[in-house]
Amino acid sequence: MKPFTYVLPQTLAEASAAAKQPDTVLKGAGIDLIDRMKERLQTPAQVVNLLPLHKEMAGIAVAADGSVTIGAGTTLAMLEQHAAFATPALAGLRTAAATTASPQVRNRATVAGNLLQFTRCWYVRSEAFHCLHGGRGPTCLAMTGENRYHAVLGWQDCVRVHPSNLAPALLALDADYTTVLGDKRTTRKLRDLFPADPRAQNPEHTLQQGEIVTSITLPKQPEGTITVYGESREKETFDWATTACAVRLVLAGGTITAADLVLGAVAPVPLPRPQAAKLLVGQKPSSELFAKVAETAYAGASPLTHNAYKLTVGKAVVRDVLERASKGMS
Ligand SMILES: Cc1cc2nc3c(=O)[nH]c(=O)nc-3n(C[C@H](O)[C@H](O)[C@H](O)COP(=O)(O)OP(=O)(O)OC[C@H]3O[C@@H](n4cnc5c(N)ncnc54)[C@H](O)[C@@H]3O)c2cc1C
Repeated sequence: MKPFTYVLPQTLAEASAAAKQPDTVLKGAGIDLIDRMKERLQTPAQVVNLLPLHKEMAGIAVAADGSVTIGAGTTLAMLEQHAAFATPALAGLRTAAATTASPQVRNRATVAGNLLQFTRCWYVRSEAFHCLHGGRGPTCLAMTGENRYHAVLGWQDCVRVHPSNLAPALLALDADYTTVLGDKRTTRKLRDLFPADPRAQNPEHTLQQGEIVTSITLPKQPEGTITVYGESREKETFDWATTACAVRLVLAGGTITAADLVLGAVAPVPLPRPQAAKLLVGQKPSSELFAKVAETAYAGASPLTHNAYKLTVGKAVVRDVLERASKGMS
């Protein structure tokens, strides 16, 4: 690993000042970042460790208006265990956290780090490959190479997938995120954290150099809300999803009055599917309806040589998640 200056800030202001310096990266638990540094994919001059700021940046607070704020440094284990997420309305997020990696990883990994982790595409994660997204070559090697785990939707010149479990679950809840950049604090919709145009040349997120995510806020959910997260993967544990789906249904008198549906692990960004969600609104839950929604969620898919299985498996995950939500089985 290339030598670097290591900053252990005592305050957010101190971290923010250090973060603005050129060639500086931010570190949560470092599970993804340190991997990339060891591989020399990232060779910063300075690393700012955000973990000493746990008093300012970690924790979960439920406000009087029912909104929930999650510190960016909160671990996935804290999410999994906190009583705020033991409700049907927020259960999808708890499942997304609880099914990430392994207990060891969840005890360290932070919410911001999970949302901002780099893609797992093996071509970009190895210096040896002349990959377009890595800025080392003219084409996306996965497009014609080993692409079993790659994108089937929403890709253009790069078929990486966004690996975060939390992202679809938080998007389905219409979360906001707050950042500091220097002394400026800004709150935006979480969907704006991910590029609208996920071409190879664009990074996985839209943060500026030195911008620190400080928290995520979930609005109060209406009465009758249930959220469910589900995924497919090859191994029981310690594995990333091959496809994922988060849904939010609001049910009143047996009718779905509002719905959101977001796919994960199948596109370069977590992918809201509003046309699929719209089919649910005003309807009574049924297997026929859910089959139609699953088809619509994957409409327009362009599978690659080795990943057409993602359409069959992904649609089954969508149907399963909807069946569970409609039966109150979060
Ligand atoms: C074996 C294994 C299996 C895994 N399986 C899954 C899985 O199934 N699903 C899943 O979602 N993940 C999975 N992961 C990935 C893991 O969840 C992430 O690596 C972890 O969440 C990253 O969190 P971190 O705090 O270590 O982030 P870091 O590695 O510290 O940071 C990741 C990125 O976020 C940036 N960053 C961190 N905090 C901030 C902040 N506050 N503001 C701005 N930028 C910030 C860093 O600069 C870096 O670019 C797995 C990991 C392993 C090792």
